[in-house]
Amino acid sequence: MLRLLLLVPTTTYRTEDFVEAARKLDVDLVVASERPNVFSERLPDTLLTLDFTDPETAAREMVAFARRTPFNAVVPVDDRTTVVGAAIANTLGLPSNTVAAVSATRNKYQMREALAKAGVPSPPYTLFTLADKPAVAARKVPYPCVLKPTILAASRGVIRADNEGEFVAAFRRIEAILKTPEVTALGAGADQILVEGFIAGREVALEGLLLKGTLQVLALFDKPDPLDGPFFEETIYVTPSRLPAGTQAAIADFTAWAARALGLREGPIHAELRVDETGPWVVEIAARSIGGLCSRTLRFGTGLTLEELILRHALGIEIETLERAPGPSGGGPEPAGVMMIPIPGAGILEEIRGQEAVKAVPGIEEITMTTHLGQELVPLPEGSRYLGFIFARAETPEAVEAALREAHRRLEFVIAPAKETGGGEPGAG
Ligand code: ADP
Ligand code: CA
Repeated sequence: MLRLLLLVPTTTYRTEDFVEAARKLDVDLVVASERPNVFSERLPDTLLTLDFTDPETAAREMVAFARRTPFNAVVPVDDRTTVVGAAIANTLGLPSNTVAAVSATRNKYQMREALAKAGVPSPPYTLFTLADKPAVAARKVPYPCVLKPTILAASRGVIRADNEGEFVAAFRRIEAILKTPEVTALGAGADQILVEGFIAGREVALEGLLLKGTLQVLALFDKPDPLDGPFFEETIYVTPSRLPAGTQAAIADFTAWAARALGLREGPIHAELRVDETGPWVVEIAARSIGGLCSRTLRFGTGLTLEELILRHALGIEIETLERAPGPSGGGPEPAGVMMIPIPGAGILEEIRGQEAVKAVPGIEEITMTTHLGQELVPLPEGSRYLGFIFARAETPEAVEAALREAHRRLEFVIAPAKETGGGEPGAG
C-alpha cells in the first residue's frame, strides 16, 4: 500500500479535506503536526510531532522514521508546512520543489526579487525594517503604496497608504503586529516591512498544478468585490472567470512565468494577480493550494476534489483528467463560488442570525461557520481568521455571485464589545 506523509499545522483549515481525500484513496496515512495530539502516544507510527520551523531537523527525523516505514509522498497542506515539506521530500528523494524555491515564496521580498530578476510584471518595491524611521521611509516611496509584512499571510498587516501621514500610521500599526510574540517567534523576516506601488485593477486567483515544470490551470477565480484598501479582506471568489479569453490566457502565461522565475516545478500553486489596462501583474505566487475551505468550490472529472488531485499527483497515481466537472447546462466548467464572510467588527461574537434563511437562497449549497460563539473577532489588519464560508453553485458565474450576495444580506451578527485585550487599536477596521 502507498504511504503518505501529510504535514498538518494544528490550526489549519485544510485538515478535513486532505484527510478525507487520503481516506478515499485508500493510502496508508501518517500525519505530522507541530504539537503532540492527544492520540499521539497511542498511535506513535501514525501521528507524529515535528518542529515545522526547523526543516533540517524535521527532515533528519523523517529519514530515520522512513527507514522503517518508507513514504511514497510528502504533502504539506498549507503555507506553514511548504518549506519543511520540501526539505523532507528532497532528503527522502521524493519529487518536490527545491527548498530554495519554496522558501522564496514564503518571504514577499525574496519573491519580488526573484520576479523582478526574471522580468515578470510585479509591483515596484522597497524593503524597510523596524530599524528604519517611518517618517524618513515615507519620503522614499511612490503613492499610493501598500505596506506589508514579508512573512505573514491572509492579508494580515497589508495596508494601503495614499500619503506620508497614512504611511507613518500604517508602518506603526504593522510594527505592533510584528512585535507580538507569536510573530517574533517566526524568526527571520519578522522585522521586515515591504512597501510596494499600489496596482489598481481587478484581482483574480489562479489555482494550478505544476507537472514537471509545466503549469496546468485548474481554475481561475474572479474576485468581484473591489479590493482598493486600506485593508484587503477577501470576500467573494467566483469561477470560471468572466474575463475575456485573451486576458485569461495572459494570466496563465504570467503565472507560469512567475513559477519559473521562482524555480517552482512540482505540485499545487496558488497565485494572485491584478489586471489593469496594461495587462496582468503578479501580486503573489504560493507553493500550495487555495486556503481556507475555498477548495470545496472545485470538482474535477467525475467528482474528484482538489485534495484528491494533489494527493494523486504526489503519489504518482493516475489522474484521468484535470478538467473541472461540467456545469448543469454542459459546456464549460461548473460555475461555483465562495464567500469568505467578512468580519463586521471587533468584539465577541454572541449570535449569528439568518443561517436558515441563507440555506433557502437558490444556489446556496452550504454555509460553514469557522468561528464559534463567544470567540473574539479581530478584523484586519490585525486579525487573520475567517468568520466562515458560504458556498454556491448555479447556472452562471453571475448567478453564483448574486446568490452569495443575497445569502450574505440575510446574515446578521450580534457582536458585543470585547474586554480590553491590547490587541488591535480601538475602532480599527
Ligand atoms: P497575503 O500573503 O497576506 O495575502 P498579499 O501580498 O497577497 O499578502 O496581499 C494581500 C492583498 O492585498 C492582495 O490580494 C491584494 O488585494 C492587495 N495587495 C497587495 N499588494 C498589492 C499591491 N502592490 N497593489 C495592489 N494591491 C495589493
Ligand atoms: Ca495573498
